[in-house]
Amino acid sequence: MKLRRSNSSASQITISYVIILGIITVIMGLSLAVGVGYQLVDAKIQDANGLMNSLQRSFIDDKPDWNQWRTNSNVNTKDTFVRVESSRNNKEHIYYSANTKGFLKNKPERIPFFNALEVRDYWRPYYHLTEVSKGVRYEIWVSFHSVTHIFHVIFNILLIVMLASFLIGVGLISVLAKHLNRPLVNLTRSTHKINQAGKLSYDTQLPIPNKPQEVTDLTKEFNQLLEQLNHKAIRDRQFVSDASHELRTPITAIRGHVQFIQRHGKEHPEIVGRSLGYIDSESLRMQKLIESLLRLSRMDKMTVKRDLVDVSELLNNIVGTYQESIPQKLDFQHDVPLNAFVNRDNLEQIVIALLNNASKYSDKTTRIVIRLHQKQDKVLLEIIDQGIGITDAEKKEIFERFYRVDKARTQKIPGTGLGLAIVKKLAELNKIEIKIADNQPQGSNFILIMPINN
Ligand code: ADP
Repeated sequence: MKLRRSNSSASQITISYVIILGIITVIMGLSLAVGVGYQLVDAKIQDANGLMNSLQRSFIDDKPDWNQWRTNSNVNTKDTFVRVESSRNNKEHIYYSANTKGFLKNKPERIPFFNALEVRDYWRPYYHLTEVSKGVRYEIWVSFHSVTHIFHVIFNILLIVMLASFLIGVGLISVLAKHLNRPLVNLTRSTHKINQAGKLSYDTQLPIPNKPQEVTDLTKEFNQLLEQLNHKAIRDRQFVSDASHELRTPITAIRGHVQFIQRHGKEHPEIVGRSLGYIDSESLRMQKLIESLLRLSRMDKMTVKRDLVDVSELLNNIVGTYQESIPQKLDFQHDVPLNAFVNRDNLEQIVIALLNNASKYSDKTTRIVIRLHQKQDKVLLEIIDQGIGITDAEKKEIFERFYRVDKARTQKIPGTGLGLAIVKKLAELNKIEIKIADNQPQGSNFILIMPINN
């Protein structure tokens, strides 16, 4: 038993959950990064607006007061550059805060879709804010360096946390998947062991796990199937051995008589006739046995054509012809003519086999009753004898092939043990149910329950 690891349901579960976990981790990480980034950028833009307001307040006498601006500003102005343009007496005046001229010498790179962002000074981002008020144009460049730095740190922390939780998640999922899969793996192992052992017995069963419910149910179903298959295999084996045994008995008897004739036939010709009589009856027994076996095996593949059959008329015919061949009196009891949906020939064979048994296992002086009546949508045919009867334990066994009750054997009543097996098969093919009841005070009652329509 080789279970390819990548195909096992544990690895399938692990792969699916890892993909889901991966997607969730990435989405969570991205949302966090976007949220934090947005907050940082927003705070920086607020700062830039604050700086712009304080700059406008410190523009006194048409001139910016850089000292007042720096002290009035509630944020650090070290990385901030300002340019103010005013026209006084029709003359242009441009004012720069410290280091702004040098800063503006570097050509800015624009970031597409973000017009307010400029990249200067070796890829340092700046937020560029412009406002015109009372003929004065104010321009501020606020560095985004701290934002990108914080964002970078947060991003790295997020990445480490995400990676760690992803790896822990993968480990937990794989342990959980294996745990969930264990009952199935155990079930496969037990089945494999039974397969390897190759020995069948009625009680070969798989251990039933308590959970999960699906595996418990599957194991129970499997055990039932196993029981049925084991029973069938054992029955088949038994059948072959019984059939060989039953065939060997008449052959041994025939050979015994042939040898007896060969040894003593010349000196004692009077024994030849008696021995030939034995040979004749034993070979007849063998012939019947082989015919019954053939019929049984043919029935495995047989399908029957069923029709509406006048059962009353059929039984009248059977009673008429069969009465001559048995000593018991046949008593056919019926009120109205009744029809059943069966195969006429099959029903005739069933009735004759049951009458044959009723006659064999009853005293010659007794009566055999055939009762026909209807019960709801079924036609009931009872064959009631006053014979030796059948115990409850035997009732379950007598339909098995070659089964003969000991009493039948000891009383030397002829038979093969196949008659009722054939009856059972024919009844199944015709959807006829057979029940056995006890007759009072003595004997058996075989009840055929037949359908009246398809
Ligand atoms: P057999 O050839 O031995 O009659 P069957 O299959 O017809 O084989 O019957 C199986 C066994 O069931 C018989 O050997 C007999 O012991 C028992 N049996 C069948 N029919 C009756 C009956 N009407 N009364 C008592 N025993 C019966």
